[in-house]
Amino acid sequence: VAHDTCPEFAFPPNAGVESALPNSQWRLSRLLDKIPAGAYTCDAQGRITYYNQPAAQLWGRAPKLNSNEDRFCGSFRLFAADGLPIDHDRSWMALALKTGQVYNCKEIVIQRPDASCVTVLAHARAFRDQAGEIVGAMNILVDISQRKLAEESQARLAAIVESSDDAIVGKSLGGQILSWNGGAERIFGYTAAEAIGRHITLIIPPERHEEERSILARLARGERVEHFETVRVTKDGRRIDVSLTTSPVRDGSGRIVGASKVARDITARKHSEQERARLYAQLQELDRRKDEFLAALSHELRNPLAPLSNSLQLLRLSGDLSPAVEHVRAIMENQVNHLVRLVDDLLDASRITRGKVELRKQRVELAALVTSAVEASRPIIDAAGHQLAISVAPEPLLLDADPVRLVQVLVNLLNNAAKYTENGGQIWLAARASDGYAAISVRDTGVGIPAEVLPRVFDMFSQVDRTLSRAQGGLGIGLALARRFVEMHGGRIEVQSGGPGMGSEFVVYLPRVQDQRPLAIEAAPPIHRPPLPAHRILVVDDTPAAGYILASLLEAIGQRVCTLPDALSAWEAARANRPEVVFADINMPGVDGYELARRLRAEPSLAGVVLVAVTGYGQEQDRELARQAGFNHHLVKPVSYESLYDLLASLPLSPVPHPTQCTTSAGVATQEAPT
Ligand code: ADP
Repeated sequence: VAHDTCPEFAFPPNAGVESALPNSQWRLSRLLDKIPAGAYTCDAQGRITYYNQPAAQLWGRAPKLNSNEDRFCGSFRLFAADGLPIDHDRSWMALALKTGQVYNCKEIVIQRPDASCVTVLAHARAFRDQAGEIVGAMNILVDISQRKLAEESQARLAAIVESSDDAIVGKSLGGQILSWNGGAERIFGYTAAEAIGRHITLIIPPERHEEERSILARLARGERVEHFETVRVTKDGRRIDVSLTTSPVRDGSGRIVGASKVARDITARKHSEQERARLYAQLQELDRRKDEFLAALSHELRNPLAPLSNSLQLLRLSGDLSPAVEHVRAIMENQVNHLVRLVDDLLDASRITRGKVELRKQRVELAALVTSAVEASRPIIDAAGHQLAISVAPEPLLLDADPVRLVQVLVNLLNNAAKYTENGGQIWLAARASDGYAAISVRDTGVGIPAEVLPRVFDMFSQVDRTLSRAQGGLGIGLALARRFVEMHGGRIEVQSGGPGMGSEFVVYLPRVQDQRPLAIEAAPPIHRPPLPAHRILVVDDTPAAGYILASLLEAIGQRVCTLPDALSAWEAARANRPEVVFADINMPGVDGYELARRLRAEPSLAGVVLVAVTGYGQEQDRELARQAGFNHHLVKPVSYESLYDLLASLPLSPVPHPTQCTTSAGVATQEAPT
């Protein structure tokens, strides 16, 4: 940069004329010794006749005086401001000696012998004698390296500010716009010329002026306001969402003189946030509807399954099937049972996701659960020809647990081990104490699980090999249920596998109860079921097949049954015939099972009648509703022969010998098989 005017060193015209005299030269050098700038003189041939200390420092060396080795300049190397090298005989000193002109504020770069560089302004001027002949010259070198650095960094900063996508705006404490970068132009639409000098309310919507006042007040206290999300208005009147960071700007003495404001346009981000929130809500809604659908589906599937299952049991009880038909019946029963299990899993899955599963905890011994689970899984394990090795710790392992759910967990693990192992494999089941826990491990020699899917096997609907799993008749629900049930018990479930073909091991940890005293041994239920004394029983169900099957099962147990299709006729028949037990469906058109129970309970002539609700809903809240309506018992469809038998056997009824007929106001209702 060649400065035309240079305030630092303006020599007076004719300065140096007398200085050419030796005495003045001496005085001049005394003077130059003291100035805070490099200074040196040369004779007419360019030999250095004098230099001061600062000059030697700038050069990084001490040139030889009055020598032809160092002419015009004491520096090691010289460069122009644009970086091009300058020979010493073309330096400003050399030019001043040659032309006699004055060269002021000429920017040059001096390189020292150690390669470091300084930027200086050269001020070169020749001395003339009385005759006007050039006898020498003086050059004053002012170090501007610091200023250069500052200028450069300021230029860099300005370039950064300018290139920023964010709007960067400087303003006074009064709110007047002092600077306005390209980002501000792009975001707000005003050019720098249009914005600078205006008040910052230019871009603040009227209803937010108060907000700006409070920001200015915080700035005046020296506070920084960060990532403040607000709204600004553009030149064309659009409202945009911005995130503001405003910091106080201080002068050299630390006084707050203004503020810098960085505004980021977050309209797009806001939009995508809203979009995300909308999608999330939509997903949740879909998920909720899926759960509801699953709940409704599984519930609806149960209804036709109940009579199917009961009919097959009835066929078995009839006992007069040919071996071929019995074989077919057994296949059907197997398949229906499998369907029932799938539907139950589905129902559980939808309940679990809706947080509607309750545990019915009691003190249980792990060995008993293991026995039940093995009993339930035995047919699948045997059918595949697997060997099952069971080892259970000899000491009692007591849990406070829901036995139904834990057996379900163990059955699932055992069934999986059987399903995902080639026929003729080996399965180990081991139960032992592990610190405060009971650990139950189910290990197999089966297909194994690849490492990358191990973390996902407990996720709902996750299956490693869909074709294989489907072939095994699964929905990918069992392990998700298992984990949930185990966690609801305060335990955890873990899986490990050596990889494909290397078998798998699932381990369930369940907290043991503190008091590990063994339970009193309960009497095992009798295997043999002797005939039960006959009672008068009324069955009410609006689904003819369901009513018929239930009645048939009851008759198979030796009961006298009357079946009616709706609550009102049942109500009348009950008053006329005074049955000892009423089995009532809950969901019936018109008067439902709850209402029927309330009416029966209110009837004095029916005091002592046993009311049994028979429904597809087995949740605690359903049982509670039934209890409140006056039911004594609650059976979940499909009702098995065994559960009916056990219920009747437990009733404190005395046998009543006289025959049953259903008498309603319409006369005598006879029970007919539905077609
Ligand atoms: P599914 O009804 O598919 O069996 P689960 O939730 O019980 O559902 O199991 C999820 C998946 O985990 C299965 O589909 C199968 O891929 C894998 N899996 C479960 N148990 C085993 C096992 N013992 N060996 C190999 N893979 C298994």
